Amino acid sequence: MKPALKIHDLAASVGETEILKGLDLEVPFGEIHAIMGPNGSGKSTTCHVLTGHPVYEVSGTATLADVDLLDKSIEERARMGLLQGFQYPTEIPGVPLRDFMVEAGEERGLSSEEVLDRIEREAKRFDMTRFLDRAVNNDLSGGEKKRSEIFQMAVLDPKLMMLDEIDSGLDIDAVRQVAEAVEAARKPELGVLMITHYSRILAYLSPDRIHVMLDGRIVESGGPELADELEDAGYDAIRERLGIEVKPKAVQKRPADLLTDTPFDV
Ligand code: ADP
Ligand code: MG
Repeated sequence: MKPALKIHDLAASVGETEILKGLDLEVPFGEIHAIMGPNGSGKSTTCHVLTGHPVYEVSGTATLADVDLLDKSIEERARMGLLQGFQYPTEIPGVPLRDFMVEAGEERGLSSEEVLDRIEREAKRFDMTRFLDRAVNNDLSGGEKKRSEIFQMAVLDPKLMMLDEIDSGLDIDAVRQVAEAVEAARKPELGVLMITHYSRILAYLSPDRIHVMLDGRIVESGGPELADELEDAGYDAIRERLGIEVKPKAVQKRPADLLTDTPFDV
C-alpha cells in the first residue's frame, strides 16, 4: 500500500547553512511514528519544509499518499491532507470551538451538515464535547489545548498529522492525556508523525517506529527498544555506535536528563 508520507533525500538550507542533509523517512497509513533527536538536529525544520515554509531552499522528494508535496503551495498541501498542530495553541476569545470548526470544515469543502456530524463524533472520541461551546482554547490547561489541536485536526480528516514537540512544557498528567489523544487518533486512513525530545511520552503510547535524527538526517530507525537505549545511554551512544563524529559545539543532552525539564550539569 502507498505510504501516507514518503521522504527521500530531503535537503534544506537557509543561505549557506545546511540544515537537512539527505533525510529519508516513510510513514505508512495506520501507523504512528516518532522522531527523536537533540536540540538543533532539524526536527522542526522537517515539519516546516513539509508544510511549505518559504524560507528554506529545498531539494529531494516528499509525497503525501504518492502525490508530490514540494511543488505545492501551503494551502494546497493542507487541502491534500497534511496538517500540523500548533506547538503553542493560542486562545481565540469570543469564538466558540464548534463555530470555529464549522468554518474550517467548510473551507475544506465539507457541507455544514457533514462537518457538524464530524464535530460531534470526534468530540466524543477525544472527550471534547464540554468544550464545544466555549471559546477556542479559553482557559484550557496545557494538556487540554494539545488534545483540542488533535481533535480539530481529526475533524478535518487529514492523511498525515504532524505534532512537533508534542510534550514540551506539559506536566506528567498532561503528557498522559496527550498520549491518549494521539492513540485515539489512530486509524487506517491516517499517518501520524510526532516529534519529541523526551522519551517520557513513550511510556503512555506505543509508536510503531521510532526514528533518531542527528545533524539533519535520520540515522537510525527501530521499535520502542530504541527509546530505551536513548533513555539509558543518550544520543552520544548512538553517535558512537554509528561512528558519527561529535561536533565540538553541538549541545549534547541526554533524554534521561531532560525528564526533570531542568538542565543537568555535572
Ligand atoms: P530541532 O527542532 O531539532 O531542535 P530545528 O529544526 O529547529 O531543530 O533547527 C535545526 C538547525 O537549523 C538549528 O541549528 C537552527 O538554528 C537552524 N535553523 C532553523 N531554522 C533556521 C532559519 N530560518 N535560519 C537559520 N537557521 C535555521
Ligand atoms: Mg524543534
